[in-house]
Amino acid sequence: MNSISDGKTIDAIVVGAGFGGMYAIYRLRARGLEARGFEAAADVGGTWWWNCYPGARCDVESLDYCYAFDEALLDEWRWSERFATQPEVLRYASHVAERYGLRDHFTFNARIDGCVWDEDSRLWTVTTEEGHTARARFLIAATGCLSKPHRPDLPGLDEFAGDVLFTQAWPQEGFDLAGKRVGVIGTGSSGIQSIPVIAQVAAHLTVFQRTANFTLPAVNRPIFPEYEAEIRADYLGHRRKILQNKAATVKQTIAESAFDLSDEEREAAYEDKWQRGGAGGIPVLFADSVTNPASNEQAANFVRRKIAEIVQDPEVAESLTPRDHPIATKRICLDTDYYATFNRPNVTLVDLKKTPIERVSATGIHTSSAEYPLDVLVFATGFDAMTGPLRAMKIRGVEGVALEHAWADGPRTWLGLMVAGFPNLFTITGPGSPSVIVNMIAAIEQHVDWIARLIDHMRETGATRVEAQDAAQEEWVAEVRRVAETTLYPLANSWYNGDNIAGKPRMFMAWLGGYPTYAERCEEIAASGYAGLELAA
Ligand code: FAD
Ligand code: NAP
Repeated sequence: MNSISDGKTIDAIVVGAGFGGMYAIYRLRARGLEARGFEAAADVGGTWWWNCYPGARCDVESLDYCYAFDEALLDEWRWSERFATQPEVLRYASHVAERYGLRDHFTFNARIDGCVWDEDSRLWTVTTEEGHTARARFLIAATGCLSKPHRPDLPGLDEFAGDVLFTQAWPQEGFDLAGKRVGVIGTGSSGIQSIPVIAQVAAHLTVFQRTANFTLPAVNRPIFPEYEAEIRADYLGHRRKILQNKAATVKQTIAESAFDLSDEEREAAYEDKWQRGGAGGIPVLFADSVTNPASNEQAANFVRRKIAEIVQDPEVAESLTPRDHPIATKRICLDTDYYATFNRPNVTLVDLKKTPIERVSATGIHTSSAEYPLDVLVFATGFDAMTGPLRAMKIRGVEGVALEHAWADGPRTWLGLMVAGFPNLFTITGPGSPSVIVNMIAAIEQHVDWIARLIDHMRETGATRVEAQDAAQEEWVAEVRRVAETTLYPLANSWYNGDNIAGKPRMFMAWLGGYPTYAERCEEIAASGYAGLELAA
């Protein structure tokens, strides 16, 4: 493990070595700042280091799910598939770290569990779990939106004699599931990606589903060479173009409303998109899919009909059919053969709505109606998203106020970038920014570039302290809520709203106005001399 010298004061501490932290270290050091990163994992990659479960891959097309800060990097890296596998994305992260010499600036296997602001020195002091400390002018939390696992504590779990695995922290050395009786709990994106792959090797796979989820075919394949050539002819131009779209990915909307097309045309459009696959799936075809319940229902019904066609057992098909939330209001899943997997003789679906889990025993899971013997139990149960990793850092701001306290009723941020009462702290893809709703590497680059520019401005003007103004923050929080309320997103029980964590305040946690409006707002603020921020020399 790299060591850190206790007590040394530097310009910036960056927490996290995912795409956010790596780019922050690169960008700040390129500007001559002394910046050091701390990462709980043993290496770079963040999400792509931890989530090495079978079937993991990105769901934004690889050609777009990458950095664009350096054209040479864009040009030299080649993706092998439309949606890169986790090992390939991790190789990419490792390549970036190697190419820009980033690893030397990180301390790995170091989890930060204390961050204290000192008003007199205007410095942050952070402490690792092992008791090392470091001090810096700026604290940059690149801790990720989906990095704090949610692991439900099922009664009797300690008694289970088999192996317990978590998709969010799969063994780095892999795990051989061949010939085993495997149970998977959870049918979000992680469960839906891993279930078809596990089914191919397990002696038997039992899927414990609490809520049926919408998932659409990814249609993963090699990248079409003509398409790639077209993009590579002007990669940066392509990137600028996709940044004009709400999700910072290739635009696929064909009409404002599902009702701009006749019934036959709409069905044909859904079918075409189903066959072609791709990011976002069929809801992205019509701009009103997540605002107009009737439009949403058209898309949802199309998928429901597909499930009934694919899944042979009508009872299983009905259990797999989502009926409790509008499509796309939970993160839409992209899959490879998910529904067809339930036609395999070695796969059983347990509908927990009908027969809930009562307990785990030494030999397996007991529901209200049966016992399912298992050798391995896989939790694909998601994350304490957005706020979880930030709260876990035990951040104390002005007058020792804890972030947990400031956010007792839900996260309050200024643009998802800063928090009133916590000077010189930046939150990359923090709550209230587009973050998880858009291509996240694009969102990360935009945040890091903006932060670096502000720090430049501070150095030029001699400012040593920056803090979001309360009033500006409240205005932004209200704006995020207002926009969310114009959509159907608040209707779903989802991690977007904090619903998956007991006791978490309910609040839609991302900006739904789209990447371009957000980036424009950030630009205007910078151009105005940082209205909404209080800068002090
Ligand atoms: P992360 O990659 O989460 O990295 C944060 C790092 O901070 C972690 O390594 C963590 O260990 C570290 N950390 C956190 N707290 C501490 C602490 N207190 N001390 C020290 N270290 C700490 N987004 C997309 O846009 N497209 C996709 O296709 C996509 N696929 C995904 C697939 C999976 C399985 C998951 C879970 C998420 C996916 N995402 C996707 C979202 C993904 O998280 C982001 O795209 C991106 O990787 C986030 O990078 P990051 O650096 O912000 O955070
Ligand atoms: P998730 O979407 O939160 O899904 C968790 C699943 O576990 C849900 O089905 C949930 O059921 C279930 N669950 C939780 N607690 C349970 C309990 N006590 N008993 C039974 N079931 C329980 O988590 P995720 O699948 O890890 O995905 C999280 C996010 O990560 C995604 O939305 C996406 O943004 C990202 N991700 C992306 C990809 C990709 O395709 N590139 C892959 C993985 C993850 P309920 O719905 O009933 O709560």
